[in-house]
Amino acid sequence: MTDSYRHKGLRKKLVQHLKEKGISNSEILEVIGLIPRHFFLDKAFEERAYEDIAFPILSGQTISQPFTVAFQTNLLEIKPKEKVLEIGTGSGYQASVLALLKARVFTIERQKSLFDFSQKMFKSLNLPQIRGYYKDGYKGLPSFAPFDKILVTAGSDNIPDALLQQLTIGGVLVIPVGDNEDKTMLRITRKTTDEFVQESFGIFRFVPFLKGLNDEII
Ligand code: SAH
Repeated sequence: MTDSYRHKGLRKKLVQHLKEKGISNSEILEVIGLIPRHFFLDKAFEERAYEDIAFPILSGQTISQPFTVAFQTNLLEIKPKEKVLEIGTGSGYQASVLALLKARVFTIERQKSLFDFSQKMFKSLNLPQIRGYYKDGYKGLPSFAPFDKILVTAGSDNIPDALLQQLTIGGVLVIPVGDNEDKTMLRITRKTTDEFVQESFGIFRFVPFLKGLNDEII
């Protein structure tokens, strides 16, 4: 695939649209302006890759809407060199955004097809610093904990304790949570070992956060 002037122009328009929708962090806007989102999509969606919508990817999953990517990234307040864990690699687009913000990115996916696809993407985009794992993200990544930031990009019906326990003191978990399709975007900050502060930021829709790997649902 190529990244043409036309794609770049469409990306500029997307950035403008995100600004109008209230995304003001210039670093995030710049990164979204740089990453060729059409590379992450099936060829069939190439023409529409810079519309602000979610698209189907492999295994019945979706690449999040650009507004959602920008919104979640903004809540994380990423600083260079921070250790960030993403749960739900999917296409690898969100992980690429985090990497261009200079985070040290760890990302977990439970669908083998998407794990393989995203690994190829990180190679072809020359982002070898992103470490991808084919694992059940419900358990986090204890061997590399603690993390400064943890981002869940699938809709959860609860807040997994394992993720809270893998935050640094001062660390932040961003996770969409709810007991039906509408999930409330939560930001949870670990103030001390056992003190957490929770903030809510509106309603979003996501594919479900599931337990287990795709071939051994528990
Ligand atoms: N961040 C992705 C969006 C992916 S959609 C992107 O930028 O494209 C959410 C992803 O979470 C799906 O790929 C789904 O398979 C994955 N997922 C759901 N439950 C999971 C779990 N327990 N562990 C790891 N990944 C999970």
